[in-house]
Amino acid sequence: MSEWVMERTTDDDIHGVPAARLPKWVPLIIDGREMPAASGETFPTVNPANGRVLAPVARAQAVDVDRAVEAARRAYESVWSRVSPAERGRILARIADAITAKSEELAVLETLDTGKPISQARVDVRVAARYFEYYAGAADKAFGHTIPLDNDHLVYTLREPWGVCGIIIPWNYPLQMVGRCVGAALAAGNAVVLKPAEQAPLTAVEVARIALECGLPPGVLNVVPGFGPEAGAHLAGHPGIDHLSFTGSVATGTFVMQAAARRITPVTLELGGKSPQIVFADADLEQALATTVRAILQNAGQTCSAGSRLLVQRSVHDEAVLYIRDAFARVRIGPGLEDPDLGPLVTEEQRTRVVRYVEGARQAGATLVCGGTIPDDPTLARGYFFAPTLFTGVAPGMAVACEEVFGPVLVVLPFDDEEEAVELANGTDYGLVAGVWTKDAGRAHRLARRLLAGQVFINAYGAGGGVELPFGGYKRSGFGREKGMEGLLSYTQLKTVTLRM
Ligand code: ADP
Repeated sequence: MSEWVMERTTDDDIHGVPAARLPKWVPLIIDGREMPAASGETFPTVNPANGRVLAPVARAQAVDVDRAVEAARRAYESVWSRVSPAERGRILARIADAITAKSEELAVLETLDTGKPISQARVDVRVAARYFEYYAGAADKAFGHTIPLDNDHLVYTLREPWGVCGIIIPWNYPLQMVGRCVGAALAAGNAVVLKPAEQAPLTAVEVARIALECGLPPGVLNVVPGFGPEAGAHLAGHPGIDHLSFTGSVATGTFVMQAAARRITPVTLELGGKSPQIVFADADLEQALATTVRAILQNAGQTCSAGSRLLVQRSVHDEAVLYIRDAFARVRIGPGLEDPDLGPLVTEEQRTRVVRYVEGARQAGATLVCGGTIPDDPTLARGYFFAPTLFTGVAPGMAVACEEVFGPVLVVLPFDDEEEAVELANGTDYGLVAGVWTKDAGRAHRLARRLLAGQVFINAYGAGGGVELPFGGYKRSGFGREKGMEGLLSYTQLKTVTLRM
C-alpha cells in the first residue's frame, strides 16, 4: 500500500469534505458482518478528479465469493423465504428512508468514487431511495393468475423468487444500480450476492450497511467488491447462484452469459447502447437540442442510455450543430464536488479509450467541430478530464458512430426523411433507447413502432429518473428487463399449479 497516494494523507479537507467522512477501509459484507478478504488483500479505489486513492477496499476472491453465496443460501432458506411479502416491503421502505436520511454523505461518496458532478450524485441518491420505495410497495403485489381451463380443474400461477441472485454492476451509476437490482431482487424474496465494480465500490457497501441497520436479516444481502475476472467471473459461474443480473459491456456480458450457460443459470443482461436522438425539422429545436446536450454530458457520457448519436433532419442540421457547439463551449469542467457541468471520466483507462475513438474518427475523415482534447487547465492535470466533443461529417459505419464510446462525444448525422431516419437509427448492433423529437404525433408513434429499442421517448428523454419504466435492450443491448414492475418480475420464476377437482 505504500505506493498509493492516499487522499486523506495529503488533504484533511478536500473541497469541504472532512477526511473523516471517507472510510478508512472498505470491507466485504458477508452474513451481516464486515470483514477483510480471506487473503487479507486490498485494492485501491481512486478519485478520478485527481488520481488519489480514496480508500483501500477488501479484494474478494473465489473463497470470499463462496462464503457470500453460502451465507445467502442459508439466509434465504432459514429466514428470508419465510418473511411475508408485506414485511419485506416494510424493511425496504425503511432502507429507502435511511438512504434519504444519509443523502449528502452518499452523494459525496458517489462523486468522489465516480467523478460525477455532485448535483448528479444527489439525483442518483434520490433515485436509489425511490427504487427501494417503489419495490417496497411492490413486494406484496407480485400477483399470479388464475387460468380458465375447464370445469374440472383449478389452475393458477405463482410468482416465486429464484433463491440466491448474483448481481454484477458497473461503475457508472452504482447507487442507482443497487436500487434497481437489489431493491427488486429483495422485494421478490431473493437473497443477493452483489459484486460492485472495482472502479467505484464505495456506495454499494454503504447501502448494505444501511440495509442491515434497517433490519434486513444478516446474509440476505452480501457484498463482494473485487475485480471482474476474479470475484465477478467466479460469481457468474457459481453453482450456488440461481439467477444472474449483469449490467456492463457487451464483451463482459458475453463472458457472463457463457459462464452462466454451463449451469443453465438464467441471466438478465443490460449491455449498453448507441442511442439515437432523432430530431425532425418540425420539433421544438431548443427543447430537443438542450436535452440532447444534457443527455450526452450527464455523467460525462458514461451512461448506457446516453443519446450519443444526433440524427437531425437536413434542413436544420447546421442550426443544430451551431447550437451544440455553442453549448459545449459554455460547459464548465471540473472536479465533481465543485458541481461543474462535466466531471472527469472514471479512470485513465476509460479516457484512453475515448481518445482512441476520437483519433480514429479524425483519421477516418470525420469533421471535429469542437473538443477532442484533454483540457489544458493545470488544475485539472491530475484528473481524467476530457472536453465535450462534437463530430459532423460522420459515416454511419465509422466506429465513433456505431460503437459505444462512453465519453462526452456526440456525432451528428443528417437525414432527409422518416425512412432514412429509421434506417440510421436502427443501423447499429445496439437497441437500448431512442429519442424522437417531432410535433407530428402520427409520425412519432409510427417511429415508436419501427425503432428497435427497449425504450422510446417522444419529445422527452430519460424522463422522471426511470424508476417506473421497464428498461432493457433490443439486439446486443441485452435482454430481460430491469426497473418498473417488469424488473420485479425478472427476479421471480413462474410456477403453474393445476388441481383436478
Ligand atoms: P467496463 O469495461 O466498462 O469496466 P465491464 O462490463 O467490464 O465494464 O464491467 C462491469 C462489471 O462486470 C464490473 O463489476 C466488473 O468488475 C465485472 N466484470 C468484469 N469482467 C468480468 C468477468 N469476466 N466476469 C464477471 N464479471 C466481470
